[in-house]
Amino acid sequence: MQVIIKVFLFIFGSVIGSFLNVCIFRLPRSGTLTLDAFKDIKVNNEKLWDELFKHKFIDEEGVIQLKFKQLSHAHKLHLSTEFKSQQTQIYHILRQLCALSINNPKRSFCPNCKKQIFWYDNIPLLSYLILGAKCRECRQHIPFRYFMVELITACVFVVLYIFFGFSAKFFIYTALTCALIVSTFVDFDFQIIPDEITLGGLVIGLIVSFIFPQIHNVNTHFSGLIQSGLGLLVGGGSIFLIGEFGKIIFKKESMGGGDVKFLAMIGSILGWQYALLIFFVAPFFGAVVGITMKLRKGVETIPYGPYLSIAAFLVILWGKEFLRWFMHSS
Ligand SMILES: [Zn+2]
Repeated sequence: MQVIIKVFLFIFGSVIGSFLNVCIFRLPRSGTLTLDAFKDIKVNNEKLWDELFKHKFIDEEGVIQLKFKQLSHAHKLHLSTEFKSQQTQIYHILRQLCALSINNPKRSFCPNCKKQIFWYDNIPLLSYLILGAKCRECRQHIPFRYFMVELITACVFVVLYIFFGFSAKFFIYTALTCALIVSTFVDFDFQIIPDEITLGGLVIGLIVSFIFPQIHNVNTHFSGLIQSGLGLLVGGGSIFLIGEFGKIIFKKESMGGGDVKFLAMIGSILGWQYALLIFFVAPFFGAVVGITMKLRKGVETIPYGPYLSIAAFLVILWGKEFLRWFMHSS
């Protein structure tokens, strides 16, 4: 019976993973996109930026002002003569960046040829292998990441079940880990963590802590809420303080506001002790990867979200043992 449950959870997890892939692609490209994602255009092509702004395609903040439907054909873009020759290209940039939302368009599509993907080519894990990592239409290579996200999510479902059984902790930690997976990959791509996840998750964190105080190992709804609030403050506060500290030492922005909201969100679900533990564990992963990246590519800034995510998942699994060991040995 246990084996059947695990197999079922693995399959179910891979389906959720497939949905997370959609979130990873669409969330940062939806209507509320911020300046960061346009950084590329702004830095590398200032003229194009001014052009988009002049025609009110974007506002000062870089938030896209067009809706998907208004932008159904390239020739509908009224651009200055200078940009006429690039019309189709600009259209594609805008179309990719704007008005995608989690449920619009309904069906998945190939980011390269924009062809709809049929259900039989959209089976989690299997389709990637059967199609040989290529789009059926245009033969464009499908990044390994799609497969990886589905596999990671499938494993997360099974592992959390092994640790927590079917308890409130299992369901809430699974949802949190899904949010961590999405944040990790969005952060890698755009150096942002969407507010939908951080602020949305934070509110959900407070609510579920009130309804299910047992996830904080307390008995009353009110104590659950208090634990959640403390976690929120300690999580967000620790990153905020280290960021302010970094500003003084390095004279530049070292921690983004996204990271503050991110650990506040995680803290609201895991409580202040775990939030603090994550705060101290994450830099170890960040340092290892950061130094490697700097040596290999000379990259200066690294997104911090992924390391908070890895630390958070490890703390979910072994935080209790670690804290117990820590209390005994000190
Ligand atoms: Zn394609």
